Amino acid sequence: MDATLARKWMEAAAAAIAAGADRLTRLDSAIGDGDHGANLNRGFTAVVATLEKAPPESVSEVLVKAGTTLISRVGGASGPLYGSALRAAGKALPATSEVQPPDLAVALRAGLEAVRKLGGAAPGDKTLVDAYAPALDAFEEAVAGGADLSGAAGAAARAARVGAEATVPLQARKGRASYLGERSIGHQDPGAVSTSLIFEALAEVA
Ligand code: ADP
Ligand code: MG
Repeated sequence: MDATLARKWMEAAAAAIAAGADRLTRLDSAIGDGDHGANLNRGFTAVVATLEKAPPESVSEVLVKAGTTLISRVGGASGPLYGSALRAAGKALPATSEVQPPDLAVALRAGLEAVRKLGGAAPGDKTLVDAYAPALDAFEEAVAGGADLSGAAGAAARAARVGAEATVPLQARKGRASYLGERSIGHQDPGAVSTSLIFEALAEVA
């Protein structure tokens, strides 16, 4: 992956989130406050604009800039969470113009650790971690088996989608949805769905 491809990933993520914004908002209306689609749409639109204005020369810088933009532009829980993940992922990468799938596996792991550190959610708490963690496991496994970026990203996207679907029967233990207690059961977590859109965007451009 080079900086151009990293930018394409952010653009594809922004497009997928724009197309899915109504769905994300509906999901967040069921177990949250109905702003997840609008939050991320605003954030990723700003990310694309920032990267367009001054295109970074490394993948690292693309991800750090994207993360910083999300943190400053999104007020909900998801802005700081996704923003910290992207910043941590970017900082874990070498500043070279091109990075390899094993570098990205390390970066994505740093991103998940940032989310867990900031939000304290474990797998099974019905959050975006339930899509991110299995996606990362699949990415790492594919890379360890010699897959290229496209293969690893495809495996991650499939695992993220399965993980997001598996949030339906869970009871939320973190975030706004946890205030609903048992009433959060039976709905898909909006953040897990947006995470799967972001991994699908990576698979699309890789
Ligand atoms: P808010 O909850 O502030 O309205 P959003 O609606 O933008 O923020 O995002 C909600 C999503 O954020 C949830 O669906 C969940 O996936 C994720 N989330 C919330 N709290 C946490 C947390 N502590 N750890 C990980 N993810 C979380
Ligand atoms: Mg919300």
